Amino acid sequence: MKKVLVTGGAGFIGSHLCVKLLERGDYVICLDNFFTGRKKNIKNILNHKNFELIEHDVIEPFYYQGLDEIYNLACPASPPHYQFNPIKTTKTSVMGAINMLGLAKKEGAKILQASTSEVYGDPKVHPQAEEYFGNVNTMGPRSCYDEGKRCAETLFYDYYKEHKVPIKIMRIFNTYGPNMLPDDGRVVSNFLIQALRGNDLTIYGNGNQTRSFCFISDLIEGMIKFMESSHDQIGPINFGNPYEISIKKLAELVIQETKSASKIIYKDLPQDDPLQRMPDITLAKKLFNWSPKISLEQGLSLTSKWFQQTYG
Ligand code: NAD
Ligand code: UDP
Repeated sequence: MKKVLVTGGAGFIGSHLCVKLLERGDYVICLDNFFTGRKKNIKNILNHKNFELIEHDVIEPFYYQGLDEIYNLACPASPPHYQFNPIKTTKTSVMGAINMLGLAKKEGAKILQASTSEVYGDPKVHPQAEEYFGNVNTMGPRSCYDEGKRCAETLFYDYYKEHKVPIKIMRIFNTYGPNMLPDDGRVVSNFLIQALRGNDLTIYGNGNQTRSFCFISDLIEGMIKFMESSHDQIGPINFGNPYEISIKKLAELVIQETKSASKIIYKDLPQDDPLQRMPDITLAKKLFNWSPKISLEQGLSLTSKWFQQTYG
């Protein structure tokens, strides 16, 4: 039986990953400091005989014997949450990477880093392919997250080069689905909660900025495929849904999907908010035969139903 450590396992993506790994018969250790993670995300697996929950902060060293794989997901991902304590965010990415890479080295474990499309910053190249170096600000509200994640990628690469640690760098593009917090602050959960409660949908800026949204089940499938790939597949590899949509169109789609009477209002665009984002997933398609299956309409409908049942 494989022993798999998931840092950030009580969060949105981590909780879905823990469930999938248990389903395939792994022993799963979920490590979380509960900053944005919640016990209720993992309530259905808390008593599973192959599941262990450890409350721990990744900025502190951590040791666990007999590990085969580590998925390093610990880090707040929503702008309001990662900007709440920016120094802590950088520490989480950088010291968390150092601690988990040290553990992987000691244990001879494979380690996957949940990196991000934010390493491309406000991209001047569209769509974004892995070889693009990005357009990133070192001193702005998003820098703690973007630069922390970029530094983590560098650490992963150097542990691979210097110590032959088997690494996987996964660049995740905007992902959504059940288990997002209602006050998460990211656009899909904000719009759905606003629409379901009959509140105004808040568009930041003019709404012409674009994103490409991937449903959680597609992302988890790609994440596990990448981890299971051969040692020479170190990445970085983009994973996301290449269906690009403006934030204004997304708001209209959410109103339509939820049959809401909500109106759209406009607020200031936050500093350094990327104007456009869409993954080039040629590599993931070619290497892993992976591409997303769930359309935005299907994914919004599934997520909307979940929000209604959970918070309605
Ligand atoms: P999330 O905020 O729901 O989950 C993050 C988890 O990490 C939470 O459970 C949180 O409590 C935990 N955590 C935060 N700081 C920690 C620390 N110092 N020690 C231990 N645990 C800590 O976010 P998510 O969307 O599930 O994102 C998971 C990972 O995927 C993050 O690393 C994020 O950067 C990356 N990612 C997500 C997306 C996305 O669209 N969801 C996109 C790109 C990258
Ligand atoms: N956004 C918005 N209204 C909201 C939340 C976000 O218009 O209530 C915008 C935000 O400014 C950005 C896009 O939606 O342009 C995606 O934001 P999110 O925080 O989900 O992800 P990120 O900017 O990190 O890709």
